[in-house]
Amino acid sequence: MSASDPKRTSLSTYAVEAPMFEGQCLCGAVQYQSTGPALFSVICHCRDCQRASGTGGVPVMGVSRSSFSFRGPAKHSRVCGGSGLPSDRYFCSECGCLLFGMPSAYPDLVSIYVGSLNDSASFSPTDALFIAQRPRWATLSLPLAEHEGLPT
Ligand SMILES: [Zn+2]
Ligand SMILES: [Zn+2]
Repeated sequence: MSASDPKRTSLSTYAVEAPMFEGQCLCGAVQYQSTGPALFSVICHCRDCQRASGTGGVPVMGVSRSSFSFRGPAKHSRVCGGSGLPSDRYFCSECGCLLFGMPSAYPDLVSIYVGSLNDSASFSPTDALFIAQRPRWATLSLPLAEHEGLPT
């Protein structure tokens, strides 16, 4: 794949190192990987995540942006996040599957939406965020540290 390839939409060259995590959209057109470890594993119950996903909370794994790459026709939508700064949510332009996010408030992070991982079973969340916005029916029977908003 050359640098002038118009289909190349990743931020960096798609890594050739062995990935620690890989994922893809529903139709397979967009694939991503992280060569670095999970920095945090949470369930986010903020209203934006609820709307973006159609669920009561989104399982999110944070990885370093430098370890992350993707390929394929990903598009993003930008809304102002809870931080007051824009937050970009990436999805497949073919099938619409929500894949990962890049919040401006945390420029070194990519938040992977865990359901799109090839191995989502290995995800082990530790914290629930924005429980003040969590609907009662989305409470999980997991021993999670709970935070009204973001952890302080
Ligand atoms: Zn797709
Ligand atoms: Zn959220």
